[in-house]
Amino acid sequence: MTRSFESRSADWLSVEEAFNRVVSGAAQLDSISVSLDSSVGFALANDVVSDVTLPPWDNSAMDGYAVRAEDVQGASPSAPLRLVVTRQVRAGDPSGAVVERGEAVRIMTGAPVPPGADSVIRVEDTDAEGDSGSVQVRNDRDAEKNVRPAGQDMRPGELLLARGHTLSPGSIGVLAAAGLQQVPVCRPASVAILTTGDELRSPDRFGDVRAGLGIPDSNGPMLAAMVAEAGGRPERLGIADDSREALAARISQAADADVLVTIGGASMGEADLVKRVLDGLGYEPDFWRVRMRPGSPVGFGWLPRGSRRQPVFSLPGNPASAFVTFEVFVRPFLRRLGGHARTERRKIVCRASVPLRTPAALTYFLRVGVDGSAGDATVRLTGSQGSGLVSGLARTEGLTIIEEGVSAVEEGDEVTVMLIREP
Ligand code: AMP
Ligand code: MG
Repeated sequence: MTRSFESRSADWLSVEEAFNRVVSGAAQLDSISVSLDSSVGFALANDVVSDVTLPPWDNSAMDGYAVRAEDVQGASPSAPLRLVVTRQVRAGDPSGAVVERGEAVRIMTGAPVPPGADSVIRVEDTDAEGDSGSVQVRNDRDAEKNVRPAGQDMRPGELLLARGHTLSPGSIGVLAAAGLQQVPVCRPASVAILTTGDELRSPDRFGDVRAGLGIPDSNGPMLAAMVAEAGGRPERLGIADDSREALAARISQAADADVLVTIGGASMGEADLVKRVLDGLGYEPDFWRVRMRPGSPVGFGWLPRGSRRQPVFSLPGNPASAFVTFEVFVRPFLRRLGGHARTERRKIVCRASVPLRTPAALTYFLRVGVDGSAGDATVRLTGSQGSGLVSGLARTEGLTIIEEGVSAVEEGDEVTVMLIREP
Protein backbone atom coordinates (compact mmCIF):
# COMPACT_ATOMS: atom_id res chain seq x y z
CA MET A 1 0.00 0.00 0.00
CA THR A 2 1.32 3.42 -0.85
CA ARG A 3 1.39 5.70 2.10
CA SER A 4 1.82 9.46 2.05
CA PHE A 5 0.88 12.61 3.84
CA GLU A 6 -2.53 14.00 3.00
CA SER A 7 -2.22 16.14 -0.12
CA ARG A 8 -5.76 17.30 -0.85
CA SER A 9 -6.33 21.01 -0.53
CA ALA A 10 -8.04 22.24 2.59
CA ASP A 11 -11.04 24.56 2.48
CA TRP A 12 -10.17 26.60 5.58
CA LEU A 13 -13.73 27.87 5.95
CA SER A 14 -14.73 30.37 8.61
CA VAL A 15 -16.64 28.84 11.53
CA GLU A 16 -19.76 30.66 10.38
CA GLU A 17 -19.56 29.37 6.80
CA ALA A 18 -18.92 25.80 8.00
CA PHE A 19 -21.80 26.04 10.48
CA ASN A 20 -24.16 27.32 7.78
CA ARG A 21 -23.22 24.49 5.46
CA VAL A 22 -23.77 21.89 8.18
CA VAL A 23 -27.16 23.12 9.31
CA SER A 24 -28.43 23.71 5.78
CA GLY A 25 -28.18 19.93 5.34
CA ALA A 26 -30.14 19.11 8.49
CA ALA A 27 -33.69 17.88 7.90
CA GLN A 28 -36.04 16.89 10.71
CA LEU A 29 -36.61 13.13 10.99
CA ASP A 30 -40.02 11.43 10.93
CA SER A 31 -42.31 11.37 13.94
CA ILE A 32 -42.99 8.50 16.31
CA SER A 33 -45.24 7.94 19.27
CA VAL A 34 -43.73 7.37 22.71
CA SER A 35 -45.36 6.76 26.06
CA LEU A 36 -45.72 9.84 28.23
CA ASP A 37 -43.54 8.22 30.89
CA SER A 38 -40.58 7.94 28.54
CA SER A 39 -40.99 11.18 26.64
CA VAL A 40 -38.64 13.47 28.56
CA GLY A 41 -36.03 15.06 26.28
CA PHE A 42 -37.89 14.45 23.01
CA ALA A 43 -39.23 17.29 20.84
CA LEU A 44 -42.97 17.46 20.20
CA ALA A 45 -43.89 16.59 16.60
CA ASN A 46 -47.25 18.43 16.77
CA ASP A 47 -48.86 21.28 18.64
CA VAL A 48 -50.77 20.06 21.69
CA VAL A 49 -54.16 21.73 22.20
CA SER A 50 -56.32 21.24 25.30
CA ASP A 51 -59.75 19.65 24.97
CA VAL A 52 -60.56 19.99 28.65
CA THR A 53 -61.35 22.65 31.25
CA LEU A 54 -58.99 22.60 34.23
CA PRO A 55 -59.70 22.83 36.99
CA PRO A 56 -63.07 21.38 35.94
CA TRP A 57 -64.89 23.20 38.77
CA ASP A 58 -64.43 26.21 41.01
CA ASN A 59 -62.47 24.65 43.87
CA SER A 60 -61.02 25.47 47.22
CA ALA A 61 -57.38 26.51 47.64
CA MET A 62 -57.56 25.83 51.39
CA ASP A 63 -58.87 23.52 54.06
CA GLY A 64 -61.55 25.58 55.80
CA TYR A 65 -65.14 26.80 55.42
CA ALA A 66 -66.94 27.84 52.25
CA VAL A 67 -69.03 30.93 53.05
CA ARG A 68 -70.60 34.06 51.61
CA ALA A 69 -68.19 37.03 51.95
CA GLU A 70 -71.04 39.22 53.24
CA ASP A 71 -71.48 36.83 56.20
CA VAL A 72 -67.90 37.26 57.45
CA GLN A 73 -67.26 40.97 56.79
CA GLY A 74 -66.00 42.58 60.00
CA ALA A 75 -65.09 39.33 61.78
CA SER A 76 -62.05 39.76 64.06
CA PRO A 77 -60.55 37.96 67.06
CA SER A 78 -62.39 40.39 69.38
CA ALA A 79 -65.64 40.26 67.38
CA PRO A 80 -65.99 36.74 65.95
CA LEU A 81 -69.03 35.77 63.88
CA ARG A 82 -70.82 32.44 64.07
CA LEU A 83 -72.19 30.44 61.11
CA VAL A 84 -74.16 27.19 60.91
CA VAL A 85 -72.15 24.31 59.40
CA THR A 86 -74.54 22.36 57.20
CA ARG A 87 -72.24 19.65 55.78
CA GLN A 88 -68.78 18.82 54.44
CA VAL A 89 -67.34 18.56 50.88
CA ARG A 90 -64.12 16.76 50.07
CA ALA A 91 -62.12 16.65 46.83
CA GLY A 92 -64.07 14.21 44.66
CA ASP A 93 -67.47 14.96 46.26
CA PRO A 94 -70.20 16.76 44.31
CA SER A 95 -70.52 20.40 45.39
CA GLY A 96 -74.12 19.92 46.58
CA ALA A 97 -76.73 22.50 47.42
CA VAL A 98 -76.45 26.29 47.60
CA VAL A 99 -74.80 27.85 50.65
CA GLU A 100 -77.48 30.13 52.09
CA ARG A 101 -76.95 33.26 54.19
CA GLY A 102 -75.65 32.44 57.65
CA GLU A 103 -74.37 29.03 56.54
CA ALA A 104 -70.91 27.51 56.13
CA VAL A 105 -69.76 24.25 54.49
CA ARG A 106 -66.65 22.51 55.78
CA ILE A 107 -64.42 22.12 52.70
CA MET A 108 -61.09 20.47 51.84
CA THR A 109 -58.41 21.69 49.41
CA GLY A 110 -59.42 20.90 45.82
CA ALA A 111 -63.06 20.22 46.67
CA PRO A 112 -65.76 21.92 44.58
CA VAL A 113 -66.96 25.19 46.11
CA PRO A 114 -70.77 24.97 46.42
CA PRO A 115 -72.91 27.54 44.63
CA GLY A 116 -73.63 30.62 46.73
CA ALA A 117 -70.22 30.54 48.44
CA ASP A 118 -67.57 32.95 47.14
CA SER A 119 -64.92 32.61 49.86
CA VAL A 120 -63.08 29.91 51.80
CA ILE A 121 -62.07 30.87 55.34
CA ARG A 122 -58.88 29.05 56.29
CA VAL A 123 -59.38 26.75 59.27
CA GLU A 124 -56.73 28.65 61.28
CA ASP A 125 -59.05 31.69 61.33
CA THR A 126 -61.86 29.68 62.97
CA ASP A 127 -62.50 27.65 66.10
CA ALA A 128 -62.74 24.56 63.85
CA GLU A 129 -66.27 23.89 65.12
CA GLY A 130 -65.43 23.79 68.81
CA ASP A 131 -69.20 23.79 69.31
CA SER A 132 -70.50 21.10 67.00
CA GLY A 133 -72.89 22.34 64.38
CA SER A 134 -71.49 25.84 64.11
CA VAL A 135 -68.17 27.56 63.43
CA GLN A 136 -66.75 30.77 64.82
CA VAL A 137 -64.98 32.97 62.21
CA ARG A 138 -62.30 35.18 63.79
CA ASN A 139 -60.92 37.04 60.79
CA ASP A 140 -62.36 38.37 57.53
CA ARG A 141 -59.07 38.46 55.56
CA ASP A 142 -60.24 35.51 53.40
CA ALA A 143 -63.47 37.23 52.25
CA GLU A 144 -63.67 36.67 48.43
CA LYS A 145 -60.44 34.64 48.58
CA ASN A 146 -59.25 31.06 48.13
CA VAL A 147 -61.59 30.01 45.32
CA ARG A 148 -59.70 28.78 42.25
CA PRO A 149 -61.95 29.35 39.25
CA ALA A 150 -62.76 26.62 36.73
CA GLY A 151 -60.64 26.94 33.56
CA GLN A 152 -57.89 28.96 35.24
CA ASP A 153 -55.29 26.38 34.20
CA MET A 154 -56.47 25.33 30.75
CA ARG A 155 -59.50 25.66 28.51
CA PRO A 156 -60.66 23.74 25.45
CA GLY A 157 -58.91 24.98 22.30
CA GLU A 158 -55.99 26.54 24.17
CA LEU A 159 -52.50 25.86 22.74
CA LEU A 160 -50.62 24.16 25.57
CA LEU A 161 -47.29 23.29 23.94
CA ALA A 162 -46.01 24.05 20.45
CA ARG A 163 -44.44 21.64 18.01
CA GLY A 164 -40.66 21.59 18.55
CA HIS A 165 -40.95 22.09 22.31
CA THR A 166 -38.39 19.96 24.15
CA LEU A 167 -40.22 17.94 26.79
CA SER A 168 -39.15 18.60 30.37
CA PRO A 169 -40.63 17.12 33.55
CA GLY A 170 -42.84 20.22 33.75
CA SER A 171 -44.10 19.65 30.20
CA ILE A 172 -44.93 16.06 31.07
CA GLY A 173 -47.08 17.35 33.92
CA VAL A 174 -48.94 19.52 31.41
CA LEU A 175 -49.41 16.64 28.95
CA ALA A 176 -50.66 14.37 31.74
CA ALA A 177 -53.12 17.09 32.77
CA ALA A 178 -54.29 17.24 29.15
CA GLY A 179 -54.91 13.49 29.12
CA LEU A 180 -52.11 12.28 26.84
CA GLN A 181 -50.81 8.77 27.37
CA GLN A 182 -48.88 8.61 24.11
CA VAL A 183 -46.98 11.61 22.79
CA PRO A 184 -46.18 12.40 19.14
CA VAL A 185 -42.47 13.25 19.05
CA CYS A 186 -39.70 13.54 16.49
CA ARG A 187 -37.55 10.49 16.14
CA PRO A 188 -34.12 11.23 17.60
CA ALA A 189 -31.13 10.70 15.34
CA SER A 190 -29.16 7.48 15.68
CA VAL A 191 -25.49 8.36 15.62
CA ALA A 192 -22.81 5.77 14.88
CA ILE A 193 -19.53 6.70 16.56
CA LEU A 194 -16.29 5.30 15.18
CA THR A 195 -13.04 5.69 17.08
CA THR A 196 -9.91 5.23 14.96
CA GLY A 197 -6.27 4.78 15.84
CA ASP A 198 -3.74 1.98 16.32
CA GLU A 199 -2.67 3.50 19.63
CA LEU A 200 -6.14 3.52 21.23
CA ARG A 201 -7.26 1.09 23.89
CA SER A 202 -10.69 0.28 25.22
CA PRO A 203 -11.10 -0.32 28.99
CA ASP A 204 -10.64 -4.07 28.63
CA ARG A 205 -7.11 -3.42 27.33
CA PHE A 206 -6.29 -0.70 29.83
CA GLY A 207 -3.26 -2.68 31.00
CA ASP A 208 -1.49 -1.40 27.88
CA VAL A 209 -2.15 2.17 28.98
CA ARG A 210 -0.74 1.46 32.45
CA ALA A 211 2.29 -0.09 30.84
CA GLY A 212 2.83 2.99 28.71
CA LEU A 213 1.91 1.20 25.51
CA GLY A 214 -1.38 2.78 24.53
CA ILE A 215 -3.73 5.75 24.77
CA PRO A 216 -7.18 5.38 26.39
CA ASP A 217 -10.16 5.89 24.08
CA SER A 218 -11.68 8.77 25.99
CA ASN A 219 -13.44 10.30 23.01
CA GLY A 220 -15.70 7.34 22.20
CA PRO A 221 -17.54 7.35 25.55
CA MET A 222 -17.42 11.15 25.77
CA LEU A 223 -19.01 11.66 22.37
CA ALA A 224 -21.62 8.97 23.02
CA ALA A 225 -22.59 10.93 26.13
CA MET A 226 -22.67 14.18 24.15
CA VAL A 227 -24.97 12.58 21.57
CA ALA A 228 -27.32 11.40 24.32
CA GLU A 229 -27.26 14.82 25.99
CA ALA A 230 -28.19 16.38 22.64
CA GLY A 231 -31.22 14.06 22.48
CA GLY A 232 -29.68 11.59 19.99
CA ARG A 233 -29.16 7.83 20.22
CA PRO A 234 -25.47 6.86 20.24
CA GLU A 235 -24.25 3.59 18.75
CA ARG A 236 -20.60 2.84 19.40
CA LEU A 237 -18.80 1.06 16.56
CA GLY A 238 -15.72 0.33 18.66
CA ILE A 239 -12.13 1.13 17.74
CA ALA A 240 -10.81 0.66 14.20
CA ASP A 241 -7.09 0.28 13.52
CA ASP A 242 -5.46 2.68 11.12
CA SER A 243 -5.94 0.33 8.18
CA ARG A 244 -8.22 0.70 5.21
CA GLU A 245 -9.72 -2.73 5.83
CA ALA A 246 -10.60 -2.08 9.47
CA LEU A 247 -12.05 1.34 8.71
CA ALA A 248 -14.10 0.10 5.76
CA ALA A 249 -15.48 -2.82 7.78
CA ARG A 250 -16.64 -0.63 10.66
CA ILE A 251 -18.05 2.04 8.38
CA SER A 252 -20.10 -0.59 6.56
CA GLN A 253 -21.63 -1.60 9.91
CA ALA A 254 -23.03 1.91 10.29
CA ALA A 255 -25.15 1.83 7.13
CA ASP A 256 -28.46 2.25 8.97
CA ALA A 257 -27.44 5.09 11.29
CA ASP A 258 -28.87 8.54 10.63
CA VAL A 259 -25.45 10.10 11.18
CA LEU A 260 -21.87 8.81 11.19
CA VAL A 261 -19.25 10.45 13.40
CA THR A 262 -15.64 9.39 12.97
CA ILE A 263 -13.00 10.41 15.48
CA GLY A 264 -9.34 10.80 14.58
CA GLY A 265 -7.43 10.13 11.42
CA ALA A 266 -8.76 13.39 10.05
CA SER A 267 -5.63 15.40 9.58
CA MET A 268 -2.43 15.29 7.56
CA GLY A 269 -0.60 12.19 8.73
CA GLU A 270 0.09 9.12 6.64
CA ALA A 271 -2.05 7.05 8.98
CA ASP A 272 -4.96 9.48 8.61
CA LEU A 273 -6.93 7.26 6.34
CA VAL A 274 -10.51 8.09 7.19
CA LYS A 275 -11.02 10.47 4.29
CA ARG A 276 -9.36 8.11 1.84
CA VAL A 277 -11.54 5.22 2.91
CA LEU A 278 -14.64 7.39 2.69
CA ASP A 279 -13.54 8.54 -0.79
CA GLY A 280 -13.38 4.91 -1.87
CA LEU A 281 -17.04 4.55 -0.84
CA GLY A 282 -18.19 7.50 -2.96
CA TYR A 283 -18.03 10.14 -0.23
CA GLU A 284 -19.14 13.63 -1.28
CA PRO A 285 -17.09 16.02 0.85
CA ASP A 286 -18.70 19.31 1.77
CA PHE A 287 -15.71 20.78 3.57
CA TRP A 288 -12.48 19.86 5.26
CA ARG A 289 -10.71 22.25 7.64
CA VAL A 290 -12.11 25.28 9.43
CA ARG A 291 -10.33 28.39 10.72
CA MET A 292 -10.78 27.43 14.38
CA ARG A 293 -8.82 26.13 17.32
CA PRO A 294 -9.11 23.60 18.62
CA GLY A 295 -10.59 21.46 15.87
CA SER A 296 -9.31 22.81 12.54
CA PRO A 297 -9.11 19.35 10.86
CA VAL A 298 -12.89 18.86 11.16
CA GLY A 299 -14.66 17.65 8.03
CA PHE A 300 -18.25 17.19 6.92
CA GLY A 301 -19.82 15.46 3.93
CA TRP A 302 -22.23 12.82 2.70
CA LEU A 303 -21.84 9.10 2.14
CA PRO A 304 -24.13 7.32 -0.35
CA ARG A 305 -26.08 4.55 1.40
CA GLY A 306 -28.35 2.91 -1.12
CA SER A 307 -31.13 5.37 -1.85
CA ARG A 308 -30.10 7.83 0.88
CA ARG A 309 -27.11 9.94 1.78
CA GLN A 310 -25.67 9.67 5.27
CA PRO A 311 -24.21 12.80 6.85
CA VAL A 312 -20.67 12.19 8.08
CA PHE A 313 -18.72 14.29 10.55
CA SER A 314 -14.99 13.61 10.72
CA LEU A 315 -13.83 14.96 14.05
CA PRO A 316 -10.19 15.36 14.98
CA GLY A 317 -8.91 12.95 17.62
CA ASN A 318 -7.45 15.33 20.16
CA PRO A 319 -9.97 15.27 23.03
CA ALA A 320 -10.53 19.03 23.26
CA SER A 321 -10.84 19.20 19.46
CA ALA A 322 -13.43 16.44 19.38
CA PHE A 323 -15.34 18.08 22.24
CA VAL A 324 -15.39 21.55 20.68
CA THR A 325 -16.19 20.45 17.12
CA PHE A 326 -19.05 18.31 18.44
CA GLU A 327 -20.48 21.30 20.32
CA VAL A 328 -20.06 23.71 17.42
CA PHE A 329 -21.21 21.54 14.52
CA VAL A 330 -22.61 18.14 15.46
CA ARG A 331 -24.90 19.17 18.29
CA PRO A 332 -26.79 21.86 16.33
CA PHE A 333 -27.19 19.34 13.50
CA LEU A 334 -28.59 16.65 15.81
CA ARG A 335 -30.97 19.10 17.48
CA ARG A 336 -32.44 19.94 14.07
CA LEU A 337 -32.80 16.27 13.10
CA GLY A 338 -34.58 15.67 16.40
CA GLY A 339 -37.08 18.44 15.66
CA HIS A 340 -36.12 20.69 18.57
CA ALA A 341 -37.14 24.34 18.31
CA ARG A 342 -34.26 25.15 20.62
CA THR A 343 -31.19 24.11 18.62
CA GLU A 344 -28.46 26.39 19.91
CA ARG A 345 -26.73 26.70 23.25
CA ARG A 346 -27.47 29.84 25.20
CA LYS A 347 -24.82 32.53 24.71
CA ILE A 348 -24.11 35.00 27.48
CA VAL A 349 -21.74 37.92 27.90
CA CYS A 350 -19.17 37.55 30.67
CA ARG A 351 -15.96 39.32 31.64
CA ALA A 352 -12.53 37.78 31.29
CA SER A 353 -10.81 37.28 34.64
CA VAL A 354 -7.36 37.21 33.03
CA PRO A 355 -5.89 38.63 29.80
CA LEU A 356 -6.33 36.25 26.85
CA ARG A 357 -4.03 36.09 23.82
CA THR A 358 -5.06 34.16 20.70
CA PRO A 359 -3.79 34.33 17.09
CA ALA A 360 -6.06 36.57 15.04
CA ALA A 361 -6.25 34.17 12.11
CA LEU A 362 -8.49 31.66 13.94
CA THR A 363 -11.68 31.62 15.98
CA TYR A 364 -10.79 30.32 19.42
CA PHE A 365 -13.00 28.26 21.68
CA LEU A 366 -11.51 28.45 25.16
CA ARG A 367 -12.76 25.98 27.72
CA VAL A 368 -13.90 27.94 30.74
CA GLY A 369 -15.69 27.83 34.05
CA VAL A 370 -18.21 30.58 34.80
CA ASP A 371 -18.26 32.37 38.15
CA GLY A 372 -20.72 34.86 39.62
CA SER A 373 -24.33 35.49 38.74
CA ALA A 374 -26.08 36.53 35.54
CA GLY A 375 -25.18 40.05 34.42
CA ASP A 376 -22.01 39.97 36.45
CA ALA A 377 -20.37 36.69 35.49
CA THR A 378 -16.68 36.16 34.86
CA VAL A 379 -14.91 33.34 33.06
CA ARG A 380 -11.84 31.47 34.14
CA LEU A 381 -9.82 29.07 32.00
CA THR A 382 -10.24 25.45 33.06
CA GLY A 383 -6.48 25.02 32.75
CA SER A 384 -4.02 24.60 29.91
CA GLN A 385 -5.84 24.90 26.59
CA GLY A 386 -3.76 22.24 24.82
CA SER A 387 -6.06 20.35 22.46
CA GLY A 388 -4.60 17.00 23.48
CA LEU A 389 -5.68 17.35 27.11
CA VAL A 390 -8.82 15.74 28.47
CA SER A 391 -8.73 16.63 32.17
CA GLY A 392 -10.06 20.21 31.86
CA LEU A 393 -13.18 19.05 30.01
CA ALA A 394 -14.85 17.85 33.21
CA ARG A 395 -14.68 21.42 34.57
CA THR A 396 -15.85 23.02 31.35
CA GLU A 397 -19.08 24.98 31.77
CA GLY A 398 -18.78 27.01 28.61
CA LEU A 399 -16.75 27.87 25.54
CA THR A 400 -15.47 31.43 25.37
CA ILE A 401 -15.52 32.42 21.72
CA ILE A 402 -12.70 34.71 20.61
CA GLU A 403 -13.58 35.66 17.06
CA GLU A 404 -11.20 35.72 14.16
CA GLY A 405 -9.47 39.10 13.93
CA VAL A 406 -9.25 39.48 17.72
CA SER A 407 -5.89 38.70 19.25
CA ALA A 408 -6.03 40.34 22.67
CA VAL A 409 -8.70 40.37 25.35
CA GLU A 410 -7.77 42.25 28.51
CA GLU A 411 -8.81 41.41 32.05
CA GLY A 412 -12.35 42.76 32.58
CA ASP A 413 -13.19 42.88 28.84
CA GLU A 414 -16.52 41.44 27.73
CA VAL A 415 -16.44 38.04 26.01
CA THR A 416 -19.16 35.84 24.55
CA VAL A 417 -19.61 32.48 26.20
CA MET A 418 -21.54 29.55 24.80
CA LEU A 419 -22.93 27.90 27.93
CA ILE A 420 -22.77 24.14 27.78
CA ARG A 421 -23.74 23.51 31.39
CA GLU A 422 -25.57 25.73 33.81
CA PRO A 423 -22.82 26.94 36.15
P1 AMP B 1 -5.63 11.97 15.06
O1 AMP B 1 -6.75 12.93 14.80
O2 AMP B 1 -5.98 10.56 14.73
O3 AMP B 1 -4.38 12.42 14.38
O4 AMP B 1 -5.35 11.99 16.58
C1 AMP B 1 -4.85 13.15 17.24
C2 AMP B 1 -4.51 12.83 18.68
O5 AMP B 1 -5.71 12.49 19.36
C3 AMP B 1 -3.58 11.67 18.85
O6 AMP B 1 -2.70 11.96 19.92
C4 AMP B 1 -4.50 10.53 19.23
O7 AMP B 1 -3.87 9.56 20.02
C5 AMP B 1 -5.58 11.23 20.00
N1 AMP B 1 -6.83 10.51 19.89
C6 AMP B 1 -7.41 10.11 18.74
N2 AMP B 1 -8.57 9.48 18.99
C7 AMP B 1 -8.73 9.49 20.33
C8 AMP B 1 -9.72 8.97 21.19
N3 AMP B 1 -10.79 8.32 20.71
N4 AMP B 1 -9.59 9.18 22.51
C9 AMP B 1 -8.51 9.85 23.00
N5 AMP B 1 -7.53 10.34 22.22
C10 AMP B 1 -7.63 10.16 20.90
MG1 MG C 1 -5.06 8.78 14.65
